[in-house]
Amino acid sequence: LALIDYIRQRAAATRRGSSAVRLGIGDDAAILAPPRGHEIVVTTDMSLEARHFRRDAHPARAVGHRTLARGLSDLAAMGARPLAAFLSLAIPRSFAADPVDSHWLNEFLDGLFALAATSQAPLAGGDTAESPSIHVLADIVLLGAVPSGKALRRSGASPGDRLFLTGSLGGSAAELATLTVSSVSSESSVMPKSRVPHSSAASLRMSGVHTSGAHPHLYPQPRLAAGQALLRRNLATACIDISDGLSTDLAHLCAASNVAAEIDAASLPIHALARASGEPSALRFALHGGEDYELLFTASPGVSIPRTLGGVPLTCIGSILRARRDQPTMTLIEAGGIRTPLEPHGWEHLR
Ligand SMILES: [Mg+2]
Repeated sequence: LALIDYIRQRAAATRRGSSAVRLGIGDDAAILAPPRGHEIVVTTDMSLEARHFRRDAHPARAVGHRTLARGLSDLAAMGARPLAAFLSLAIPRSFAADPVDSHWLNEFLDGLFALAATSQAPLAGGDTAESPSIHVLADIVLLGAVPSGKALRRSGASPGDRLFLTGSLGGSAAELATLTVSSVSSESSVMPKSRVPHSSAASLRMSGVHTSGAHPHLYPQPRLAAGQALLRRNLATACIDISDGLSTDLAHLCAASNVAAEIDAASLPIHALARASGEPSALRFALHGGEDYELLFTASPGVSIPRTLGGVPLTCIGSILRARRDQPTMTLIEAGGIRTPLEPHGWEHLR
């Protein structure tokens, strides 16, 4: 009860400016008022310790940020704007003894609430339970809104469309590779115990200093503004977010649209952290390293695509082809025009 009350106080700060949440945490259920003429988009994402994160490798604040970012990225890929978030937490007994004093939990909530505030995704409910294991489980449910019938989908790509990407690739996998157990645990042991004042705007601003440019793995920035602009300006025929890696998510888009695709390796916008690892790692991170949370979308040949959208650069990385039984679904074009089949080998982290 103390934990729920604590979360409720902190959640109140994320509701500022939200008109959709009529009733948040505190009753048997939340009440939402979706905007007129819109449909509701729903996505759920589970963040399970030892599967999606490690407490000895990921700072708690980053785990909180990433828990929410994964769901927000799915909303972005549909062109939706967030309406409300619901968080269910299972925490080990060692935390539950005094959850409000738990350093880890405070940091986790700092990361989650900071992103909730900047992305206008108010926390409107959830659940807590004592984990029967030593592991933390954080499950997020996100509701978003799109104008009726207009949601971006994976299934609209046609032969002749061009393939675009927001931001850059490979940074997340490259940063993850540098997160060693020793460096992170020594960092967290010297960090002061956080007792952030409840609902403090100053603390939210401070915790917003993390950017995906410097920490693409720990603090990815979901491309909500870009996704909503794609929808509003009717620029995309299909869209998906890069959660499992370009090769895997492009395969999903191709399957849903029943098309093939070719990618120009030289055109790939590779994150500086990935480039720093040299070849062939850089290209491998870019093609298969997951969790970049960029948007991959297709556009009709006649449509003019701006250089930036929602504050992020856009890059044309290839094109959509007719699916043919005698041809690979995905092809990589490298220097000298050499074409090789591209297989989906999305990054499977922690394996
Ligand atoms: Mg997705």
